[in-house]
Amino acid sequence: MALIDRTLLGPGPSNPYPEATAALSAPLLGHLDPEFLRVLDDTCARLRRVWGTANERTLPLSGTGSIGMEAAFANFVRPGDVVVVAVNGLFGERMVDVAGRYGADVVRVDHDWGTPIDVERVLAAHPEPSLVAAVHAETSTGVLSDIRALSLAVHKRDQRALVLADCVTSLAGVEVAIDAWDVDLAYAGTQKCLGVAPGLAPFTVSPRAWDRRVKRPPTWYLDLNLIGAYVDGSSGGRTYHHTAPVAMITSLHAALGRILEEGLEQVWERHRAAGALLQEGLVEQGLRLFAAEGHRLPELTTVRVPDGVDSARVRQILLTEYGIEIGAGAGAFASSVWRIGLMGHNARPDRVELVLAALRAAIAKA
Ligand SMILES: *Cc1c(COP(=O)(O)O)cnc(C)c1O
Repeated sequence: MALIDRTLLGPGPSNPYPEATAALSAPLLGHLDPEFLRVLDDTCARLRRVWGTANERTLPLSGTGSIGMEAAFANFVRPGDVVVVAVNGLFGERMVDVAGRYGADVVRVDHDWGTPIDVERVLAAHPEPSLVAAVHAETSTGVLSDIRALSLAVHKRDQRALVLADCVTSLAGVEVAIDAWDVDLAYAGTQKCLGVAPGLAPFTVSPRAWDRRVKRPPTWYLDLNLIGAYVDGSSGGRTYHHTAPVAMITSLHAALGRILEEGLEQVWERHRAAGALLQEGLVEQGLRLFAAEGHRLPELTTVRVPDGVDSARVRQILLTEYGIEIGAGAGAFASSVWRIGLMGHNARPDRVELVLAALRAAIAKA
């Protein structure tokens, strides 16, 4: 049977960097093989550079982006802890759900979808939260929030509060600077701007957060104490916890190599330029963008479906006639918004021209 090849311009997965795909065909090594452990160590070192952190506890967790969210709440929240969550889209909603399942006393701060988080309102929600959580790049709405401002403001008021940032769609797409921004906990996912297949969640923990960790979290698989004993050999020698997804880590290692070789700032600039080109092109076609101006993500553009146009039919034409996947809207905007991703390897002007031309043709046909 023929393999089907698509241009993945939705909210993820994106087409992986060629280096990431090539790495998947390397002969498999054992997860305790010294050759593989070198790759793992170097993957963690490369992740530190991409995160902008010296955090010793920086590692890829086994699972998709959501496992990073789960690990954060499982390892750093105790029942009854006050957790303030800024909600401005689907992934903020998910944080409320996950934090609640680990017993947090959740204080949610709702924002209109399509707008960034309001730091003053998040601060005012509770005088002494143990953790404040927000999404850096809301993939459901295409909005970038100012995590730097939030984190610095939280810590200016209270050095003990932890700040958690969802960086699933921001890492390796727009600037992320964990140490400079004083962020305590952050997670990402491989299938967005990192340009790798889904399956790993890069995770980083500040020393302040590590001191406050739950010693025996209610999850065995995501217990960072146990995982750390394998990843960094912190208990003296590396001990088996669960079998590391060797092929996925090798693939992530290769993509990170590609990103660092190009240069992190060049990679951000490539995303910025591609996003701007797409957003200008959509407006030129008479379409209206959804996310608030000045807060639009370059790597994920939300655009309103024109009146009278069948949004699902347009996506179907794009998929079957052009081999292009774009996303439907999220939540209440499922049929009134499209989401177009230019992530990782797809953050290029040729992809922009392709999707603009195909979208114009598909709308005319639908
Ligand atoms: C995709 C995404 C997630 C969830 O990641 P999965 O890989 O689907 O588990 C979480 N947060 C944001 C902002 C995302 O874009």
